[in-house]
Amino acid sequence: MTRLPNFSAGPATLPESVLRQAQAEMLEWNGVGASVVEISHRSKEFIELAAEVEANLRTLLSVPDDYAVLFLAGGATTQQALLPLNFATPGGTADYIVSGHWGKTAIKQARPVVKVNIAATSETADGKFLRVPARSEWQLTPNADYVHITANETIHGIEFRDTPDVGDVPLFADFSSNIASEPIDVGKYALIYAGAQKNLGPVGITVVIVRRDLLERAGLPRADIFNYASHAARDSMLNTPPTWNWYLLGLTVKWMLDEGGVAEFARRSARKSQLVYDAIAQSGGFYRNEVLPEFRSRMNIPFFLPSEELTAQFVVESKAAGLLALKGHKAIGGIRASLYNALPVPAAQALAGFMRDFQNRNG
Ligand SMILES: *Cc1c(COP(=O)(O)O)cnc(C)c1O
Repeated sequence: MTRLPNFSAGPATLPESVLRQAQAEMLEWNGVGASVVEISHRSKEFIELAAEVEANLRTLLSVPDDYAVLFLAGGATTQQALLPLNFATPGGTADYIVSGHWGKTAIKQARPVVKVNIAATSETADGKFLRVPARSEWQLTPNADYVHITANETIHGIEFRDTPDVGDVPLFADFSSNIASEPIDVGKYALIYAGAQKNLGPVGITVVIVRRDLLERAGLPRADIFNYASHAARDSMLNTPPTWNWYLLGLTVKWMLDEGGVAEFARRSARKSQLVYDAIAQSGGFYRNEVLPEFRSRMNIPFFLPSEELTAQFVVESKAAGLLALKGHKAIGGIRASLYNALPVPAAQALAGFMRDFQNRNG
């Protein structure tokens, strides 16, 4: 068996120890005589598991007590559709800041139900994103229902490096691809959401961290199953939750705590991304990443080679060299390296080494 360095953007690599534990517990878990995936979510054992996972996630992310933590089926895109349903006011406006692809999908999901104001976008005339729009450029709506940002743009490789000040308007942030990668002040956000399949575990479960007072907002007409307040009132067990995913997420969160928590992952993320950005910077233009340095993502690094032929060759040869999933997203092409928490530092070293070697042979 060979597990290879896996740079997949999501679903993404998981810690080997987590997979081993899941394997060991696959047939029988926690003395219940069955797998965790075969028992009722209303069983005492599963309810205890769920409570422990929530407590650990709260510790990992330093979530204040006045925030609810929800574990929901459906992806980050589903939350993008639920945000306006739950928090828009009839006739109100929601402000969106666009710094890449996922900011646009958030708008697409919101438009059918709320008036969307694109308060700022950094999209260039030729469709590129190279930065987060400067706060001074944001045209915020007074008394907007909320302001939405994408904390890390997974495809374009653009990351907010600080929390913007939007006054008293609730700040909502899509942290799908950089949650738990550095300490953040949850209290500066009204709502944080993250699909688990990048930094928190497996696909199929999404974490929503929401200030409890917001759950009192009436929102727009919607089914109960689309109602965050109902999910919160029922501890995310309004219907059958994705129990297996919840369990795997729990193992991953525990692993992150055991490894030293978000401060440690901030150090590792800085080191891993520096290795790859250095290989780009020292390539004399052979590799290109045009994102302004202060907004470069530590999690996802897209880069480009001099020609389509060399890009295709890089994809083939990196795979042959045992480096998985480096092909860029079809929206922008090129190469993309995702360096999530579960990717070990030596994997980034191996990539940087391969990049230098490839350039020496083809540059
Ligand atoms: C992956 C991703 C999404 C989409 O997640 P789904 O779970 O596929 O809906 C949304 N936002 C960001 C920032 C992402 O990285």
